[in-house]
Amino acid sequence: DTPAKIYYKFEGNNTSGSHKLNSAIAQAYYAKQQGLKGVTTETGAGQWGTALSMACSYFDLDCKVYMVKCSYEQKPFRREVMRTYGASVTPSPSMDTEVGRKILAEHPGTTGSLGCAISEAVEAATSTEGYRYVLGSVLSQVLLHQTVIGLETKAALDKYDIIPDIIIGCAGGGSNLGGLVSPFIGEMLRGEKKYQVIAVEPASCPSLTRGKYAYDFCDTGKVCPLAKMYTLGSGFIPSPNHAGGLRYHGMSSVLSQLYDDGLMEARSVEQTAVFKAAEQFARVEGILPAPESSHAIKVAIDEAMKCKETGEEKTIVFGLTGTGYFDMYAYESFHDGTMKDYIPTDEDLQPGFDSLPKM
Ligand SMILES: *Cc1c(COP(=O)(O)O)cnc(C)c1O
Repeated sequence: DTPAKIYYKFEGNNTSGSHKLNSAIAQAYYAKQQGLKGVTTETGAGQWGTALSMACSYFDLDCKVYMVKCSYEQKPFRREVMRTYGASVTPSPSMDTEVGRKILAEHPGTTGSLGCAISEAVEAATSTEGYRYVLGSVLSQVLLHQTVIGLETKAALDKYDIIPDIIIGCAGGGSNLGGLVSPFIGEMLRGEKKYQVIAVEPASCPSLTRGKYAYDFCDTGKVCPLAKMYTLGSGFIPSPNHAGGLRYHGMSSVLSQLYDDGLMEARSVEQTAVFKAAEQFARVEGILPAPESSHAIKVAIDEAMKCKETGEEKTIVFGLTGTGYFDMYAYESFHDGTMKDYIPTDEDLQPGFDSLPKM
């Protein structure tokens, strides 16, 4: 019953189930051109590993995936999709790498983090002839590949003379949102148009809304170059009860800069509210959304409800990044009422900030 008009760009119509294939194909193509034997990577929720496995099988490249341990255990079927496409999948931290053994010695029984898995994948690549490490988000080349999302969205909107007022996307490392908003932000920077751009992140991993804008390591093992970004510190490990992906400690440098310059806003949302929005969306639209994507759905609904109160006929566009078929344990805990919201206290965040490199 809102006067708002809501449009979404759906990226889940491929077997890997998310926008990640846009970058995986490009990266596998260039790896093949370079004459590499294979690539290594990390995966958290599993979508990136799945997309890269598919892309590597197209180009006949070997693919080694380090999968965050809690996700490896929670999502056995994701793992099997990757293995179907020929990838090897190792739970991280593992005893296979020096950095994995070190992290396990310091944090016995840890359920892992993206930062740990990145360190392991980097070590595996640098110690294996003919291999390189590739990353599925955060870095500027990944945002560049993902601009296809925004270009297609803009072409579709232009075709029907639709001008959005609000553009919303979920933000983990920032690649889908960066890709979605790039053509629109370009118009803003050239002074042609004005849009309200909103990044949505989980309250349990609030890198934009509560992080610091600082130079930080992209990985827990501190082997990658520093990046200037909004970050919770490379030592940050999100609560294991957090279900919905988007658990990276930092944020793309490009989006961090846009946020710092005031060209983009950020909101954080709690997971039970996210799953409520997911369920509402599934019932209305028929698509079973990924928990990550549902962060954007939640804020699109919030904005539409504001329009209902004020009577404004705003046009809202959001990115629907993928499907949630492998997230049924999370849906189950939502339906059973056992899902808990978790907002870290300032004290919980402090150790992560203490891990920031001193400049
Ligand atoms: C990886 C992923 C995200 C978050 O990553 P970004 O790099 O921030 O886009 C969001 N939704 C889905 C479905 C994903 O697979």
